[in-house]
Amino acid sequence: MPSPERFAALQTIQRRKPAAVQPAPALSEIWASDVFTLDKMKEALPRSVFKSIQKTIREGGKLDPSVADSVAMAMKEWATSRGALYYAHVFYPLTNLTAEKHDGFIVPKGDGRAITEFTGKLLVQGEPDGSSFPNGGLRSTFEARGYTAWDVTSPAWLMRTPNGVTLCIPTVFVSWTGEALDKKTPLLRSNAAVNAQAQRLLKLLGNQEVAPINSSCGAEQEYFLVDNAFMSLRPDLQLAGRSLFGAPPAKGQQFDDHYFGAIPERVQVFMQDVEDQLYRLGVPAKTRHNEVAPGQFEIAPVYEAANVATDHQQLIMTVLKSTAKRHGFTCLLHEKPFAGVNGSGKHVNWSIGNSTQGNLLDPGNTPHENMQFLLFCGGVIRGVHQYGPLLRAVIATASNDHRLGANEAPPAIISMYLGSQLEDVFNQIKAGELKSSASGGVMRLGVDSLPEFPKDAGDRNRTSPFAFTGNRFEFRAVGSGQSVAGPLVALNTILADSLGWMADQLEGRLAAGESVESAAFAVLQKITQDHGNVIFGGDGYSSEWHHKAVHERGLENLRTSADALPVLQRPEVRDLFARHSVLSPVELESRFEVYAEQYCLAIEVEAKLALRMARTQVYPAVTTYLGELAGSLQEQESIGLSPSRDVAQQIAALNRQVLDRATALETALGSAPHGASAHMRHCADQLMPLMGELRAAVDGLEVLVDDTAWPFPTYQEMLFVR
Ligand code: ADP
Ligand code: MG
Repeated sequence: MPSPERFAALQTIQRRKPAAVQPAPALSEIWASDVFTLDKMKEALPRSVFKSIQKTIREGGKLDPSVADSVAMAMKEWATSRGALYYAHVFYPLTNLTAEKHDGFIVPKGDGRAITEFTGKLLVQGEPDGSSFPNGGLRSTFEARGYTAWDVTSPAWLMRTPNGVTLCIPTVFVSWTGEALDKKTPLLRSNAAVNAQAQRLLKLLGNQEVAPINSSCGAEQEYFLVDNAFMSLRPDLQLAGRSLFGAPPAKGQQFDDHYFGAIPERVQVFMQDVEDQLYRLGVPAKTRHNEVAPGQFEIAPVYEAANVATDHQQLIMTVLKSTAKRHGFTCLLHEKPFAGVNGSGKHVNWSIGNSTQGNLLDPGNTPHENMQFLLFCGGVIRGVHQYGPLLRAVIATASNDHRLGANEAPPAIISMYLGSQLEDVFNQIKAGELKSSASGGVMRLGVDSLPEFPKDAGDRNRTSPFAFTGNRFEFRAVGSGQSVAGPLVALNTILADSLGWMADQLEGRLAAGESVESAAFAVLQKITQDHGNVIFGGDGYSSEWHHKAVHERGLENLRTSADALPVLQRPEVRDLFARHSVLSPVELESRFEVYAEQYCLAIEVEAKLALRMARTQVYPAVTTYLGELAGSLQEQESIGLSPSRDVAQQIAALNRQVLDRATALETALGSAPHGASAHMRHCADQLMPLMGELRAAVDGLEVLVDDTAWPFPTYQEMLFVR
């Protein structure tokens, strides 16, 4: 029998009914209906203005400032005719959140009237306070000026909330001194970098016409749904996004019965609501299914240009959270809300291409004959090997550390999976001669009525943090709560760097009279020799790999963010970003400062919360219960029974441990050292283990004391009841 509060929560849930299913509107009616798309611009703008905007969007050239007034007017017309009273410059500060500065369209006139107004200047530029967002020392409070500037390559949209409709304009966010304070600016710069170097390489390979090259991203979002009725009883879920205490349930995910199982009805209705809103926002949500853990789900949109996909990814997170509330759920985007249960990731599928060459990571059926593909793929191999630690650093958060290296998520060692076909091709290159591509063959199912179909040339490897999956790479170690911008910036930049290196090599060799074929082969062979160590097709979870990777392959195992974030301060990383004008050394350093601070803050908040919950909830509840138990034991003895005192003694011992460990945690919290790196080490090496010890005592109590006395909803309740 659960405690009265938990019982009440369970009853609330039992009474819940799935929200009435609205008949799904026809996709053609709602698709992108709340987006100011190119089509809508075409209708609303003078032809010359439209042409100019379209050129900037497609080819990435300079925006002609004279068009801004017309666009602003058309945007305002469109938005106000749909009920918008406000507009907001939306930007992406160095937290993983989305920030908005709202302004009214309204302008009061001296004569008591008011009109709506929105000029080109207001569209193009905004001025939020640059010092109140994390900036890693780039701005102090007395030098507050920061600007937002319109990103014309990502479309504006309408955000509908119970407060009304707001026109949202995607922007970059920079300081008065011109430094990027956000995640979008470096992403746009990294696209430019990869374009510049890919153009060089493609032209050396003899391509005459090369359209602008862009990176693409399709991000699969995993999340948990927990019923709202539990939230007020779980301060940890509320404040930290994860449970700090909780004994494992008797039934976990051992049965593998949740993955791809039937989606619970209330969740289905929720998902449909989410998709409906995303379609209106032009976000191509496509896949939805249960994930491995009970209570865990996934949504994946179709891939888009990386910049737009990144904005859409932020929208997906926002819509998931706000919609969950309306359906009586809380959506948890934390990477590890429940210890011992599968965590959530965000697989970032990434490729690069353009309209003339197509997807540059598409091997075709015979990759050994596709030198262009091999060079681009080789570029990725080189980049991932040289800058593996950087890839670890861009996914380093306190929450993702719980997942990486645990037995369900990729290890913190960055290696690369190519699949048997490509691995074989690169081995041939290493050996000096390219002869053939193994084919996948045909899948025969042994029943005449079932179709035969061609098999993929490579299997999948769930244990690899970075896997080739047919025509793209899948960065699987990214955290579920993260913006995908950081990982994309790193991937684009390391690829740009490799492409630039290859172009240099080719230029030298061609100038010396070598043929393109032989020069390209030599470059690839060098890559396989110098960087082949990063390719690994085996079990990434195994302890043998962890040993071998470090001791034989020379790969780094950066277990915690305290180990990984300092990579951002390494000279080779600073030079990489500076060389390609993606982040200046000052911008990079500020990112290290911000992320280090966020890491420490996250852990310290959790530590304080654990301390408080232990002292003010666990200890009192258990003490009261112990009193009752002692009374009952005495009574039993008074009538001549001889009951066991074992349980009471175990409970008393654990309850004392709770107090002692809370005190130890409090002491450690009070002795944080100065300096970002030392502070991170303190969090990783002192606070985290102490929190683990406190948790062990609390979880030990949960399975001993009377269920009626236990203050927190259990894992079983939160994961299985809906
Ligand atoms: P799985 O779960 O099997 O990995 P999903 O279909 O859930 O596959 O997700 C795959 C993601 O990869 C989707 O977002 C898809 O649009 C995206 N994707 C497919 N092709 C490419 C590509 N060439 N570049 C980038 N992303 C791609
Ligand atoms: Mg996947």
